[in-house]
Amino acid sequence: MAPPPRQKHIPQRTCVACRRSEPKRGLVRLVRNADGRVAVDVGGRRNGRGAYLCHDPLCWDLALKRRALERALKIEQLHAEDRAAIEAFARNLRAEPEGSATALPADAPEHA
Ligand SMILES: [Zn+2]
Repeated sequence: MAPPPRQKHIPQRTCVACRRSEPKRGLVRLVRNADGRVAVDVGGRRNGRGAYLCHDPLCWDLALKRRALERALKIEQLHAEDRAAIEAFARNLRAEPEGSATALPADAPEHA
């Protein structure tokens, strides 16, 4: 048995779509309140049962398609409004600029 690595314990959470474990900060928390309504919990501090998703919009699509959120949060189904809000949040994730994603391809054949 290898000795445990000497590092601070970082709480890990698992994305309900891709099952990747990440430090809590690397994931977005969703929380279910007492009424069974689900909201994105940006601060990660709200009371209620929580589920986590990556910042990858693909995981959000997957979670909605496969009802992974419903399963993780133990609800029958997402409220239509909550689902719409979650979809909107996922679209914003997609819109986030990331590195040089907008850079043009350098190999465009053009007349000099
Ligand atoms: Zn994921």
